[in-house]
Amino acid sequence: MALFRKAAPSAPTPIDGVDCLYLDLDGVVYKGPDAIPHAVDSINGAGVRPVYLTNNASRTDAEVAEHLASFGLQLTPDDVVTSPQAAMRLLAQHLEPGDRVLVVGGAGIVVEVEARGWQVVRTAAEQPKAVVQGFHPSVGWQELAEASFALHTGIPWVATNGDWTIPVAGGIAPGNGTLVSAVHTAVGRLAEFAGKPERHMYDVATERFAAAAPAMVGDRLDTDILGARRAGIRSIMVLTGVDRGAHLIGADETMRPDHIIEDLRGLTEPIAPLRETLERSTGDTYFEVGTAAVRRSGIDITLVRAGARPVDTIRAACAAVWTADRPVLGLRIADQLLAL
Ligand SMILES: [Mg+2]
Repeated sequence: MALFRKAAPSAPTPIDGVDCLYLDLDGVVYKGPDAIPHAVDSINGAGVRPVYLTNNASRTDAEVAEHLASFGLQLTPDDVVTSPQAAMRLLAQHLEPGDRVLVVGGAGIVVEVEARGWQVVRTAAEQPKAVVQGFHPSVGWQELAEASFALHTGIPWVATNGDWTIPVAGGIAPGNGTLVSAVHTAVGRLAEFAGKPERHMYDVATERFAAAAPAMVGDRLDTDILGARRAGIRSIMVLTGVDRGAHLIGADETMRPDHIIEDLRGLTEPIAPLRETLERSTGDTYFEVGTAAVRRSGIDITLVRAGARPVDTIRAACAAVWTADRPVLGLRIADQLLAL
């Protein structure tokens, strides 16, 4: 007779074993002026150190920290990693102390350049040793022209990030990638990119916090998740931002996340198990998460039963598509699934 009962091992959560949580901001922590429901409480209660990663180069780490603190998050500027900080890492490979750097952008870049003992200049005539370019609403033709003049001399060119668009109060506006592209067309060569989806920002965070097992939480596959995959760290996709179920189902192999959660409460909730069953008589395979069921029959992926939560159906559909022996474009995916 057993004298004690062994406790059943509790089901794992997406952040089991994680020592540092890298969080994207827009679509994960806030949307427009408002915090995303459950985000602040979930971050504060996760029991893992949060670090905030932003591609937006227009604000300093201190400004970002102040904004996040206004939602009720506890942090210091050191808990924020910006794309200009990652850009400095790349610039350092090319520069000596005191060198001049032509800055296209705002305070988010200027403070980082000055903190490293380099001199900020704004014209090609000042003979900079490198150009660094990031988004700021004030950037206009004159700055792009100066960058172009300077780059014709062959000096290094680092861009904070390549986002084509940036969401602002009035709608979707041209982002840094679009402005870099204008210069690129004029000078005929490419910038080196620092922000997500390149791995440099993740590396800055990992070094700063000596993280042994970090995880990235993001709302975009082509930046947050792709970057985490490149950096070799765990990735968690949250459905509160830009990318939806259909993007996940059709995602290229390089940007498939390790975990998918509906909102940040999912960070500490047990992961609902995925069941895969082969029906021998038909050769069909069923993928089930919770009450959701998706069938793969040859090239057809169909919804058998929607789950109580959309995220369960999405996970079942992703499993059906991602484990198929042919690429996404070779499959026929039901419209109901692509509407997720
Ligand atoms: Mg985002």
